[in-house]
Amino acid sequence: MSKKYWNEEIETIDREKLEEYQLKNLKEQIKFAYNNSAYYKKSFNDVGVTSEDIQALEDIRKFPFINKSIVRKRQQSKPLLGDLVAVEEERVVFVSSSSGSTGIPTVSPFTKKDFDEFQNIESRLFWGTGMRPNDRYVHALNFSLFVGGPDVIGAQNLGALCIWAGTLPSDRLLFILKEYKPTIIWTTPSYAWYLGETARQKGINIREELAIKKIIVAGEPGGSIEATKNAIEDLWGAEVYDFYGISDIFGACAGVCEYKNGLHVAEDQLLVEVINTDTLEPVGPGERGELILTTLRKEARPMIRFRTGDIVTYTDEKCVCGRTHKRINIIGRLDDMFISSGVNVFPSDIEYIVRNIEGLTGEYRITLFTKNHMTKFSLEVEVNENIKKTIREIQDTVSSEIKAHIGVKPTEINVLISGELPRATHKAKRVIDLRR
Ligand SMILES: [Zn+2]
Repeated sequence: MSKKYWNEEIETIDREKLEEYQLKNLKEQIKFAYNNSAYYKKSFNDVGVTSEDIQALEDIRKFPFINKSIVRKRQQSKPLLGDLVAVEEERVVFVSSSSGSTGIPTVSPFTKKDFDEFQNIESRLFWGTGMRPNDRYVHALNFSLFVGGPDVIGAQNLGALCIWAGTLPSDRLLFILKEYKPTIIWTTPSYAWYLGETARQKGINIREELAIKKIIVAGEPGGSIEATKNAIEDLWGAEVYDFYGISDIFGACAGVCEYKNGLHVAEDQLLVEVINTDTLEPVGPGERGELILTTLRKEARPMIRFRTGDIVTYTDEKCVCGRTHKRINIIGRLDDMFISSGVNVFPSDIEYIVRNIEGLTGEYRITLFTKNHMTKFSLEVEVNENIKKTIREIQDTVSSEIKAHIGVKPTEINVLISGELPRATHKAKRVIDLRR
C-alpha cells in the first residue's frame, strides 16, 4: 500500500542494465516480426536487414520507418488485420480503432499477453501519479473503440474503485463527481477546463462540494504547457498529471510522476528515438524532434520505428523520483505545425504565450491563410470582462510576446470578450486552416 513504485526493479533499473534488457528484447522483437509478419519480412528484405544486424540499440537505425499511412494500406491489403500482424487472428483478443478523421480508421490488435502488459503499464503510470487502492477513480474517456478506453482496467488492477463514466454529458458527470466523491479523474485538458467552468457556472463550489484531488489529462499538449496546467489546477484546486498515448501502440505509453518533470516513457516496452524530421538523424537531449517508437515485446502487431508525428524533447537523466526511464515533453503534432516566414510554429507555442498574459482568459483561435504564396496567421484572444487595458494595449502585448518567443507575429489580433470563442468539450479545435 505504501510502496513508492509499482515495479521498483524495472522503474529504477540502471540505464546500462535497462539498455541490455532493451537490446535483448529488440533482437527478439525484430526476429519475431521478420518471421511472422509478411509486411516486415518484405520491408526488411527490401533494404537487406535481418535481426542479425541488431548488435547495439543504435542499429535500429538500419531499419525502415513505418507510419500511419503504411499501417492503413497494409490493413486494407488483407482486412481485418492486414499483413502487418504477426499472429493468427485466433490469438487476438482486443482491437481498438483510431478515429477515421484523416482516412479509414486503423485497428490496433492485442493478444492476451499484449493486453495484460498494456494494463500493467497503465497501473504503473497511475501509481506514479500517486493513485492508490483507496482512491475512487472516474475514467471519463471514450469507450467506443478508443485505445484509452480500457486503460481503466489498469486502475482497477491497481486496486482503485473505478467508475467507468466514458463520455457522459457534463451534467451527469458533475452529478457523479458530487455524489460519488471520486478523488481522481482522467479527461482531456480542454474538457477538464470546460467541465470546471461548467461546474462553476452551475454554482458548484468545486473545492468544497467535489473531492477531486488529481486530474489526469492526455490527448492534447495542454497538460504539459505550464500555464494551461496551472489554470486547470487553480480552477479545480487539484493537481494535473499529463499522460501520452498512441492508438497504434498503447492507451498510455508515458506519464508524469509526482514531480511533473517530463513524461516517463515505459522504456522496458518501447525503444525511443527522437529525430530531426528533415535529416532523419537523431537529435540530442533537449532538442525538438519527432518521436519514433519501436515496441519491444508486442506480439499481435510489432511496431518497428513507428513515426508518431509528435514533436517532443527528451532527457535520459534520472528523475528526482528515482525512476530512470527516458522522459519526454510533448511540443505538438507535426501535422499541426505550420511554417510562417520560415519559422516553425506550433499552436502549443501560441497557447503557452496566451495563457501567460494577464487579463486574457487563455482561450484562443488561430486562422491560417495564404498571402503572396506565404502562410500567415491571425489570432483571436479573449479578455476577462473586468480588464483595465485598452484593446490596443492588449494587441501590442500579445503581438510583442509572440514575436519575442516565436520570432514571427500574427498579421492581425482580434480581441474578444470572455465567452465569445467556442468552448471545446473533448478535443479543442483551435486552428482554422483557410489555405488552399
Ligand atoms: Zn519522476
